[in-house]
Amino acid sequence: MFIDDIVPPICYYCAAYLKEGLLCEDCSNQLSYIHPMAARSRRDGRFLFLWDYQGLPAFLIKRWKFNRDIIARDVILFCIDSYLSEFKDEFADIDFVGFIPMHPLKKRFVRWWNPASVIARYISNKLNIPLMDVLSVRLFKPELHKIRDGDLRLKKIRNSFRIKEDALKELVAASREIRLLLVDDIVTTEATFKEASYTLVKAVNNIIVKGFVLCG
Ligand SMILES: [Zn+2]
Repeated sequence: MFIDDIVPPICYYCAAYLKEGLLCEDCSNQLSYIHPMAARSRRDGRFLFLWDYQGLPAFLIKRWKFNRDIIARDVILFCIDSYLSEFKDEFADIDFVGFIPMHPLKKRFVRWWNPASVIARYISNKLNIPLMDVLSVRLFKPELHKIRDGDLRLKKIRNSFRIKEDALKELVAASREIRLLLVDDIVTTEATFKEASYTLVKAVNNIIVKGFVLCG
């Protein structure tokens, strides 16, 4: 006897009864992603993102990040997998995949639980692009996540990142232009993303930073 014979399956998000699967049709539709062209025009080409930060996508990321929910993680990775297959060309010129780190004091965000890190590894594996552990967090600013104003956030976050020594050596030694895909989970004010890119561009001459984000 299977569990479905005793308890009928319900949608993971809205709890509607289902015949099969994990999500009902309405909820599945919430996961159709934003086309790269639309994402680019909405964020001035600064990064690609899959979804707006709302509804089911926001729910899944929070479940993954704060509740360590592996179902939420796997649903997101499944979506990323099909996005990468569909828009492979978007990643054709990338030399390295990196990610925005979380502060090491946040023990619950060990490397396997920081979505940005897991997604970067996934992209690296799937598209066969080397992973570069490129940044570390230098300053811990616990109040930062509460600041919603973009300019103020950018001011506060200034100099928060440091390029890791090995990565810096490799980047500086490159004789040609390097394109780095920087992965993050959620970008709202862009302050973190801008500061991370700025840190890299300031230190390395021939680097172009492209972004890949779940919710933008
Ligand atoms: Zn549903």
